[in-house]
Amino acid sequence: MNDVTYSIVIPIYNEEKVLPVLEGRLVSLLDELDGPSEVIFVNDGSTDGSYEYIRALHDKDRRFQIVNLARNFGHQIAITAGIDLAAGQAVVIMDADLQDPPEVVLEMAAKWREGYEIVYGLRTDRSTDSWAKRVTASLFYRLLGKLSDVKIPAEVGDFRLVDRRAVEAFKSMREGSRYVRGMFAWMGFRQVGVPYARQVRAAGATKYTFRKMMRLATDGVVGFSRTPLRLVLHAGMLVAALALLFGIAAIGLFVSGIYLVPGWASVVVTVTFLGGTQLAVMGMIGEYLGRTYEEAIERPLYVVSALHGLLPPMVPPRRAVLAEPHSVVDLDRLISAGG
Ligand code: UDP
Ligand code: MG
Repeated sequence: MNDVTYSIVIPIYNEEKVLPVLEGRLVSLLDELDGPSEVIFVNDGSTDGSYEYIRALHDKDRRFQIVNLARNFGHQIAITAGIDLAAGQAVVIMDADLQDPPEVVLEMAAKWREGYEIVYGLRTDRSTDSWAKRVTASLFYRLLGKLSDVKIPAEVGDFRLVDRRAVEAFKSMREGSRYVRGMFAWMGFRQVGVPYARQVRAAGATKYTFRKMMRLATDGVVGFSRTPLRLVLHAGMLVAALALLFGIAAIGLFVSGIYLVPGWASVVVTVTFLGGTQLAVMGMIGEYLGRTYEEAIERPLYVVSALHGLLPPMVPPRRAVLAEPHSVVDLDRLISAGG
């Protein structure tokens, strides 16, 4: 029934500059892989000529297929949509900008053939990343490693090959705030890293704004750890205990007659300190509460406006809005599926 061995999922957000280079590298990769392969481009609401380019590519070569999202949903959701619709026995997640060299996929496939269910790319050489990016990334990974209840390997992005079993597990995880690499780390299976040198972006500029980066970092910490809440609780208890001691000491001083004119400085310091702490704590609680709200309303993760070369699955994924059948452009598969 299913004749695809490798599905390569690539999120695309305004990547018209890299697409011609990417196309050439992908064609070589597809020819070298040891089984029938497909590429699933997830167009994440591009506003440049990306969609037109990949549509032309699909018309030329049916191994290239497209999931067109109704707007920009963000990298992590775009990956999710691609994985949901991938048919392959192994699914590869890769960036469009060739920072993840396609040739590494061959090494990943070899590890998969050895029996590993999740093969992730290990960024051993990040010399092409900016100094600031390397420092903040390293700080973030260290913090997350300390806080997280799940062991998430450091220096690992979303570039990976995943076996069908892990894909099915992933498809059952429908949380709205998604930190994909953490979700794969959580599920277990036999996992292994393949070291590679992170390349420079082939063309164009990063699509990860500072805001998107902060959002990803927050999703990583809040999604995989309750430690910040626990820290807050402990800090609150400590402050309360200190206040109590202070009160007792003040009464003691007053009774023994040494009580002097009370300093307003200590009052101001205490009040502002507590005020600031309370605001921070409320923000943190709000972050968790907001997520609870988001999950409670179960809004779809994404909306698909068109599929090219892909059929909506018999059992549609939960929390996803797929295209109507009439917007699905695929005769080849309908015929080969005997439908
Ligand atoms: N991307 C996306 N939606 C977004 C932002 C990025 O689909 O809202 C895609 C982008 O096209 C690329 C990948 O995610 O294929 C990684 O983005 P980028 O290379 O800009 O991130 P960086 O490598 O700079 O962290
Ligand atoms: Mg990149």
